[in-house]
Amino acid sequence: MSFINRIIPAAAMALVFTTSCNNATTPEESGFDYTVDRFADIEVLRYQVPGFEQLSLDQKKLIYHLTEAAITGRDILWDQNCRYNLPIRQMLEAVYTSYDGDRDDSQFKAFEKYLKQVEFANGIHHHYSMDKFTPEFTQEFLAAEVDKLPADVQPSDREMLFKVIFDPSFMAKRVNQAEGADLVATSACNFYEGVTQQEVEDYYAAVKDTTDLTPISYGLNSRLVKGADGKIAEDTYKIGGRYSAAIEKIVGHLNEAAKYAENETQRKTIDKLIEYYTTGDLKTFDEYSINWVGDTASQVDFINGFIESYGDPLGMRGSWESIVNFKNQEASHRTEVISDNAQWFENNSPIDPRFRKPEVKGVSAKVITAAILAGDAYPATPIGINLPNANWIRAAHGSKSVTIENITDAYDKAAHGNGFNEEFVIDQPTRELMDKYLFITDNLHTDLHECLGHGSGQLLPGVDPDALKAHGSTLEEARADLFALYYLADPKLIELGLLDSSDAYKAEYYKYMLNGLMTQLMRIEPGKDVEEAHMRNRKLIAEWAFEHGKDANVVEMITRDGKTFIQINDYEALRGLFGQLLSEIQRIKSEGDYTAGRDLVEKYAVKVDPQLHKEVLDRYAALDIAPYKGFVNPVYTPVTGSDGEITDITVSYSEDYLPQVLRYSKEYSTLVK
Ligand code: ZN
Repeated sequence: MSFINRIIPAAAMALVFTTSCNNATTPEESGFDYTVDRFADIEVLRYQVPGFEQLSLDQKKLIYHLTEAAITGRDILWDQNCRYNLPIRQMLEAVYTSYDGDRDDSQFKAFEKYLKQVEFANGIHHHYSMDKFTPEFTQEFLAAEVDKLPADVQPSDREMLFKVIFDPSFMAKRVNQAEGADLVATSACNFYEGVTQQEVEDYYAAVKDTTDLTPISYGLNSRLVKGADGKIAEDTYKIGGRYSAAIEKIVGHLNEAAKYAENETQRKTIDKLIEYYTTGDLKTFDEYSINWVGDTASQVDFINGFIESYGDPLGMRGSWESIVNFKNQEASHRTEVISDNAQWFENNSPIDPRFRKPEVKGVSAKVITAAILAGDAYPATPIGINLPNANWIRAAHGSKSVTIENITDAYDKAAHGNGFNEEFVIDQPTRELMDKYLFITDNLHTDLHECLGHGSGQLLPGVDPDALKAHGSTLEEARADLFALYYLADPKLIELGLLDSSDAYKAEYYKYMLNGLMTQLMRIEPGKDVEEAHMRNRKLIAEWAFEHGKDANVVEMITRDGKTFIQINDYEALRGLFGQLLSEIQRIKSEGDYTAGRDLVEKYAVKVDPQLHKEVLDRYAALDIAPYKGFVNPVYTPVTGSDGEITDITVSYSEDYLPQVLRYSKEYSTLVK
């Protein structure tokens, strides 16, 4: 299971505090209302699709049909997440829409909150923690309301649905990862039927060909079921198989979309996807993926299918998702400039020349504008994606790495004014610096990290790539981050036209130190260590630079009115420290120096100062920022001429959260009666 393929927002995006510098209007000035809804631990936002109007009519039609194909897959994910999700959704929505009592009644309010949570999670389990939601209304309230429903919408298995909703120990977790338990039996997701974890493992041990250098993604598009005869078999998601009703409709929209493909490669990609949905053959899925990764010429692009396997405790089966997008030409220019100059960056890197790559290839990465989010990418969505997942395809054919900039932009605008800056950033000039430059430096940091950082440097001959063992991913992330931090302050970026001020990098440096030393601790429970690799890497870099700059007073932690603040006294010296640490971590990687790597991680990246931790948690809690965010989609409407031909597609942003999900249930239900 590869968690690297989804870039999720750092610290629930509370750390993005700025408005864009190339588009310096604040949300208030722009008149665009980013905030849609707020309930439980969730904030729902909306995003804009800049550039859609300027696309050609054929591109708009292509996007329109692909967005229809995207929304149409919604019920598949609901059923994959838990077998009772769809009947529960039907029952809840029927009660909600027909309710004629007092809508301010506390029982109804609690019911509405629960409905919003379930809609957001595509089921009864929290999208992130995987824990089942706890209803705050009574069983009696729901029973009385269900009684009032017309007979033909009464659920047939009401007793079971009530047990699923109200019994806290029944189907308590969607994906259980706790070591020791039978992960299949203790997970409520709907990928297995009647089989134990051992039986699943035995089944795949028997069918897998371990000598195959181009293996299919076993189990990706099926449910594993033990039949009445005791035989275990895959129930494949395909036309004529499981989810056929939904997949037939998706294919119908894909056929429409194929008419407007931008070129032959894209047409072939869509055709391969249709073939895969028709046959369920995972070899065809690989052919599709290879085709897809090779299509770099099209402006419009999309994902549609069973992709990520985080929803399966055994990490094999893909949850259905779709994102339709088009390339942001202007912003992609940024990543192209960086890739084109990859060798210059490598040659000037502050590391031992023996560890530099003589010939470096920049990874092709692009910046995209999302047009629709669907399935497992809706309403909560990643901000970047790196696909395909199959390792051999990545090695032989490459991968596509994308940053979804209209989503990061919406996060950014919505976070403006949430009080985070005012609470944690030391003074007004620093806040202004961040307001002015952080949007661009954040994006450049990601570009440098992804396009160049990970690909830079080389191992000495004979060094085992896995020599750093469990600390490998933390040190690898640190290496890529340090590469990005070091170059953000380089005059080369101004020369290349990527930055327009020699002060811009300071915004990123301040944010990085503040986050690494303090604010990322808000994601850690009291008493716990830092565990996640990206968080460890940020802590390692910030703590190391803080300590090694102590004598020269480069960075200080000062206390004001009982609150701790980070003060950076010498930004240039801080850059020097980042370069020094980059050099050392590159040496550790190139030589495979496990002991030195482990010592760095253990000394700087893991242990939390309990007093500072408590302070950060208290200050953050007082801000009341929703830890999780998601998005409603825009609405696309075809405009038809007198002869019925589509003459344009318009986009509107006025739909609210509950109306949207209720409309999706009404118009795009494929697997419920
Ligand atoms: Zn990385």
